[in-house]
Amino acid sequence: MKLSQKKSIITAIIFILILSVIQGCQDKEELPEATATTFAMDTIIQMKAYGVKAQEVIDASFGRIRDIENRMSAHIKSSQIEIINSNPGQEIKVDKDTFLVIKKALEYAKLTEGKFDPSIGPLVQLWGIGTEKARVPDDKEIKDALSVVNYRWIELNEENTTVKITKKGMRLDLGAIVKGYAADEVRRIVLENKIKSAYVNLGGNVMVIGSKPDGSLWNIGIQDPRLERGSVMASIRLEDKTIVTSGNYERYFIEDGILYHHIIDPITGKPARSGVISASIITQNSFDADALSTSVFILGPEKGMELVEKLPHIEAIIITDDLKVIISSGLIGKVKILDPDFKLRSE
Ligand code: AMP
Ligand code: MG
Repeated sequence: MKLSQKKSIITAIIFILILSVIQGCQDKEELPEATATTFAMDTIIQMKAYGVKAQEVIDASFGRIRDIENRMSAHIKSSQIEIINSNPGQEIKVDKDTFLVIKKALEYAKLTEGKFDPSIGPLVQLWGIGTEKARVPDDKEIKDALSVVNYRWIELNEENTTVKITKKGMRLDLGAIVKGYAADEVRRIVLENKIKSAYVNLGGNVMVIGSKPDGSLWNIGIQDPRLERGSVMASIRLEDKTIVTSGNYERYFIEDGILYHHIIDPITGKPARSGVISASIITQNSFDADALSTSVFILGPEKGMELVEKLPHIEAIIITDDLKVIISSGLIGKVKILDPDFKLRSE
């Protein structure tokens, strides 16, 4: 090959390379995006996705979230949970996904020795926190409700996917775990549609898929438990992770200066007073993160962090009622405190 021929081939290759780089940049710039907000599962749900099928994926995700809500909500009369609750002593056939969520909830009930308890329904109903009927019940009412709260009285049959509650008055409530399951389902839908960059926020239950389209990490704010939703006291940069927070600010009422929130300690039958006002779990899987955020909130800072450190690939940020921020070992150097009222305490 002549030198001039070689030169022109090299020039052509360089030209094609430059073109493809420019094309690549244009692709990045032109990556379509879609954002949407809806209300489901008693909370505001926001989603953003980047890619050709962004809107389609958001629609499919919101559809799946509603589908999960319709099956698993304790407030929807026709839900499978409501059918179980109104038929004590009977084996109720449920869909595979409902079965999966109840089974996972029972795993966490065992792991936390009953602090996390999906049979908490009678107490949730009694306190009515987040509803117009919210009130402080008397001791007798609490005692009565407690007498029908015990996850050991839930019977599962894996083969037929049936669920039975064995005592009259029992009520399942999957409110502490179902949003986590829904977030994982959103991720599944996003990835199946080859979308590389998206996030969904189910009322404080955040899932980020991939990194941002420009390759940078998502910057996630941690809610200031003392303030209105949207006020941030710390931040963390994440990719391909979920961060799920249980906080005393999510649903509560105040009476005689006392704050009564929605996370109930199944031992006392009252809103948990463990010293924790917010517990965030960071990991890959939102299903586990959701169950754990509620569990750690009830277990308290010491036992909660002990559990987190025992579990692989799980990190946590706990805020105590004296505004100490306790982080798990894997988060050292990664949490940025934005409000000096909060002091970081590395464990
Ligand atoms: P989360 O915001 O994920 O911590 O879930 C709180 C919700 O879980 C409440 O609104 C109740 O529906 C339910 N819940 C309350 N206390 C418990 C408990 N001890 N174990 C399991 N679920 C609970
Ligand atoms: Mg939870």
